[in-house]
Amino acid sequence: SDHQLIYPPHPDQMDWSSLYPDYVVDDEPQDQHTPAPETPSDQQDLAPLRPKRISKDVEVADIGCGFGGLLIALGPTMPETLILGLEIRVSVTQFVEDRIKALRAQDQDTKLYRNVGVLRANTMKFLPNFFRKGQLAKVFICFPDPHFKTRKHKQRIVSTTLNAEYAYVLRPGGVVYTITDVPDLHEWMVQHLDAHPSFERVSEAEQEADPCVAIMRTETEEGKKVERHKGQKYVALFKRLEDPAW
Ligand code: SAM
Repeated sequence: SDHQLIYPPHPDQMDWSSLYPDYVVDDEPQDQHTPAPETPSDQQDLAPLRPKRISKDVEVADIGCGFGGLLIALGPTMPETLILGLEIRVSVTQFVEDRIKALRAQDQDTKLYRNVGVLRANTMKFLPNFFRKGQLAKVFICFPDPHFKTRKHKQRIVSTTLNAEYAYVLRPGGVVYTITDVPDLHEWMVQHLDAHPSFERVSEAEQEADPCVAIMRTETEEGKKVERHKGQKYVALFKRLEDPAW
């Protein structure tokens, strides 16, 4: 349950260093001659820990990444970009973490997969705790809500409330990628993202020209499952618009 979830109070306090150790930057060395300010001993424990800094921000998020197929496929195609999978199930998150570790160990020379990480999180609740306004360039929502019909509106991964959060964390020009094999869920996502003033649907031509779309269709575990069962996959992309000038 949520009380076991770890999330920062604010994105600036998120420590990404363990997820992307290759990107950790050394902080300015302390000036030896300047005495450290004195902190009363009873306040020392209250001093906020400054997280280790990394040289880049996460710019791509996979919401409900499952077993990590999309992350692993995207990593080498955008080696300069930090990609993060968010997954609520503990054992699945651990599986993806181990998978990334193993791939990194294999690719000592090429240094691939250093830009891919996974975090256990409930994306329905804490997204703005991890990402600042406009931080993300891409958000993937692949095969969410398998029990869509029986879920209440508020429990769905695309909803009026959550779309406002996706709009907040995405920069203008950024894209929400959706894919599902459930026609009703596709319609639901299209209808709700279309209705949001910050989003505009991407044309089919532009959609099919985007290399991420092919990866999302073929490399997600769910996408592979649908392929085996010769099912349909419904794709819709939405671009984050500029905020209107007031
Ligand atoms: N995206 C993957 C794929 O396409 O293969 C996995 C799809 S799977 C049907 C949906 C995943 O979303 C599950 O792994 C589930 O645990 C995760 N999930 C559901 N609700 C979530 C939430 N609120 N926050 C994070 N992950 C969630």
